[in-house]
Amino acid sequence: MQKVDVAVVGASFAGVSAAIMLARARRSVLVIDDGVTRNRFAHSSHGFLGMDGAAPAAIREKGLAEVLAYPTARHMAGRVTGITGQRGAFVLQGPEEVQAERVILAFGQRDVLPDIPGLAECWGQTVAQCPYCHGYELADRTTGLLAVDAIPMHHAAHLQDWTDDLVLLENGVPLMPEEAEKLERLGLRRAAGRVVRVHQSEGAIEAVELDGGTRVEMRALYLVTWQEPASDLAEALGCEVEETPMGRHLKVDDHQRTSVPGVFAAGDLARPFPSATQAASTGNRAGAACHQDLLGILE
Ligand SMILES: Cc1cc2nc3c(=O)[nH]c(=O)nc-3n(C[C@H](O)[C@H](O)[C@H](O)COP(=O)(O)OP(=O)(O)OC[C@H]3O[C@@H](n4cnc5c(N)ncnc54)[C@H](O)[C@@H]3O)c2cc1C
Repeated sequence: MQKVDVAVVGASFAGVSAAIMLARARRSVLVIDDGVTRNRFAHSSHGFLGMDGAAPAAIREKGLAEVLAYPTARHMAGRVTGITGQRGAFVLQGPEEVQAERVILAFGQRDVLPDIPGLAECWGQTVAQCPYCHGYELADRTTGLLAVDAIPMHHAAHLQDWTDDLVLLENGVPLMPEEAEKLERLGLRRAAGRVVRVHQSEGAIEAVELDGGTRVEMRALYLVTWQEPASDLAEALGCEVEETPMGRHLKVDDHQRTSVPGVFAAGDLARPFPSATQAASTGNRAGAACHQDLLGILE
């Protein structure tokens, strides 16, 4: 069985940023990853320092190569299927069994998309969740805003700097009178009725179809997705989870410690407002805190 100081589950923005701190502290660190990042549907990633517009996989590969240049860092390709044990002696099951004194969970979140035919084909291309990630490229288009469980009032106000032709797709979600007033002030059009289909060609949205048969034309669509941890490892370990309007996330303290001693978490998994930079930032913090925990100096 391989033995390391720290095992990091997930080698993307958060996991690689955590691992590099430990490698620079000359600790043995193993990153285990099965290469299924949250942003894999997008052709390019935006807003990440020094790599704006690069392909998501290219950023990950560059980061991983940098960490693996350190002699105490290693990478294992594959999926971790279970973690048992406790602080000082965790055992990870996966492609190979690994023993680790500490664990950093950086396995990300998955987006739960509404079950509307045609929507998934456009995800990350012309259907998006975050205007900072996609808004510049999708600007000045006729744009839809899909209500899923609630009316996305924040997005309705937010998108004003990217388009002045925005249509709210109510999708059967009831609208409060004060919401309707605010949407009118913002100049949004509204389309009642449930969205039953997205018409698209190779990921380029053309229109949505409502349950009465009406077609609403658009060239971009935003929605707020519900997010879930990409793996059930943390919950199986007993890590506390919190629910926010964006989904379910691991609860961590200011040092990225989960509720289970010796287990840290970083990235989308541990915060409700995700971005690649935020994931790298919390990974950096988790790596340093984990190192200090190994030294016994973490308060
Ligand atoms: C379509 C889309 C586009 C986006 N565009 C942008 C953008 O332009 N700019 C931006 O800042 N943010 C963007 N984001 C958000 C960004 O992708 C995330 O904030 C970021 O990827 C989070 O990094 P992470 O390291 O926490 O998780 P991820 O990048 O999701 O990486 C998690 C890693 O863990 C691995 N993993 C999961 N489970 C296991 C397991 N059991 N065993 C082993 N490995 C496992 C996965 O394979 C994956 O490699 C976008 C998101 C989406 C959905």
